Amino acid sequence: MKKQVLRIREANRLAKGRAKVSADPEDARLWRVERDGGQSVQTHEPMTREAWLGFLDAGGGVVTTQQAETILPAMQAAVGALHEVWAKCREVERTLGRDLDGLEGVIQDMAAGLDDPESIDVDYVRDAINAQADELVAEADACPGCRERRVDNLLWQDDGAVKCTTCGKQYMPPTK
Ligand SMILES: [Zn+2]
Repeated sequence: MKKQVLRIREANRLAKGRAKVSADPEDARLWRVERDGGQSVQTHEPMTREAWLGFLDAGGGVVTTQQAETILPAMQAAVGALHEVWAKCREVERTLGRDLDGLEGVIQDMAAGLDDPESIDVDYVRDAINAQADELVAEADACPGCRERRVDNLLWQDDGAVKCTTCGKQYMPPTK
């Protein structure tokens, strides 16, 4: 059985001044909720008694149905994009014949973060990706013998050549 939503009059009585509810001017089926003396105005689906009391207690920190509906498609798109990134990483890994554990860790963290959006540390993710990128030379500077790109495995020689410690090849990187 569907729970009965409150009438505006009842909602106002329960709010005891913590919020002021009126019919939304654009859609009278919705509530226009004013708080903090009109500083905060939000539109909400009419709520049940429990939901309304919870809303008042939470001080509005809860994500409203309307907000959730706005956020959800973006989150779903992000998850979809992430799966694509992951598939690309696997592809790159196969091409290079090498493990991209570092990057995978970052992506796993991001995926975990999507379950709990507030836990995503954007700075951390960005730094980790940058660090990962910094450790690789450009595709054009990779070892011609084995396509090594890790900076640590490519050593500058005195004559301007680069020695690849992975396969032992010495080569002149293309001049910029
Ligand atoms: Zn090499």
